[in-house]
Amino acid sequence: MSAGDTTTDCFVCRKHRDRGSLMPGGPVAEDELVLVSHIVTPEALGREGTTAYLGHLCVEPVRHAPGLADLTEAEARSVGWWCTRASRALREVAGAEHVYAAVIGDGVPHVHVHLLPRFPGTPREYWWTRVDEWPQARRGTAAEIEALVHELRRFLDAGA
Ligand SMILES: [Zn+2]
Repeated sequence: MSAGDTTTDCFVCRKHRDRGSLMPGGPVAEDELVLVSHIVTPEALGREGTTAYLGHLCVEPVRHAPGLADLTEAEARSVGWWCTRASRALREVAGAEHVYAAVIGDGVPHVHVHLLPRFPGTPREYWWTRVDEWPQARRGTAAEIEALVHELRRFLDAGA
C-alpha cells in the first residue's frame, strides 16, 4: 500500500481534510504541525447515540504518523505543547478538575492523544477509563460541542 492510500483510508487524515460533521465546531486549535479537535457524536459516525462526552479532545499531528515514536522532534514538541494548552483550556473554560491523556491507537494508525477531562463530582469508581460512563457525566449534542469548541478556541486564541 502506498503512502497515498494510507492517508486516503485514514480516519484522522479524512477528518483533517473534510472537517464538517467529523469536526463539530471546527478545530479547537491548529498550527502547521498539529490539530486539536473535539470528538464527534456516535451519530456522526453512523452509530447509535446523539451525544458525546463533553470536552473529550484529540491532539493529532497533521502528518500521518502511526505512533508517538514516529513523530519528528518538532511534531513531538508541538503535540506536547498543545496537550498542555488544550488541558489548560479544559480546566479554565470547561471546569475540569483533572485531564487524563492517552494514546491507544488500536483502531486508527494515526497518532491521536485523547484528552479526557474529569469534572468535579465524578465518583471515584468512574475515574480514568470509565470517566465518560458516569450516568451524570456531561454529554453534548453536536450543537453543544460546537458551542464548547468556540469557547475553548476563544480562550486559546487569546494566548492563555
Ligand atoms: Zn492519517
